[in-house]
Amino acid sequence: MDRDPFLSRRRFIGKLGAVTGAMALGGAGAAEAFTATSTGGRAPAPKTPAEALRILQAGNKRYRHEKLTLRDYSPVGERRASEQKPFAAIITCSDSRISPELVFDVERGNIFVSRVAGNGIDNGTLGSTEYAIAVLGVKLVLVLGHSDCGAIKSAIATVAEGKTYPSSKYGAIGDVIEPLLPTVESLPADERTLARCVPANAIAQAQDIARRGPIVAPAIQSGAIDVVAGVYNIANGAVSIFRLPA
Ligand SMILES: [Zn+2]
Repeated sequence: MDRDPFLSRRRFIGKLGAVTGAMALGGAGAAEAFTATSTGGRAPAPKTPAEALRILQAGNKRYRHEKLTLRDYSPVGERRASEQKPFAAIITCSDSRISPELVFDVERGNIFVSRVAGNGIDNGTLGSTEYAIAVLGVKLVLVLGHSDCGAIKSAIATVAEGKTYPSSKYGAIGDVIEPLLPTVESLPADERTLARCVPANAIAQAQDIARRGPIVAPAIQSGAIDVVAGVYNIANGAVSIFRLPA
């Protein structure tokens, strides 16, 4: 393994050269979405939740079309190590095939990500997202499910087979599956497919966190943030966004 960060960076940039060349010709929309910070980083600074969503969607479009913005992934240095100004909070699955910064073509410091298998709302994802809203001032919360989700498969099987997860055998795995069950159970038996349950779960979890006080719900009511759901298609990289019913 190459431990020289400068050498590694050159090699990485070299590999990206082909796609960033295309970016320079076709990515004019990306430039306006970012402003330089006082400490040398680049941070999107949306003024509204709608603008924050547009930045994520534009980044996902670049990702899908292999026009990723050239980024420096070497250590950020002392000046940038002491601040973060994320513009969106994302709650997503722990699945190893999801890399949120890549999927939305943003860089470190831009998005505040909480992960748990099945992207359910538990005290960890809730508290982390509340912190992102109240302290870091994010404008958008996205609950992001994904295709081929193993946790949702487990939830479907749990409901279908009446399976249980005693902690003596499964540790805390049942605690991860449990928040996913009500959505599966709410669907007619013949609709409990992965394709149906993944978006249904993302929407249900987004609705769940949107109702939570004392931070999330008031922030929505004041217009400071919005909460949306999404599904990431691992195969083609596309993120579909679902707005919550009013
Ligand atoms: Zn998953």
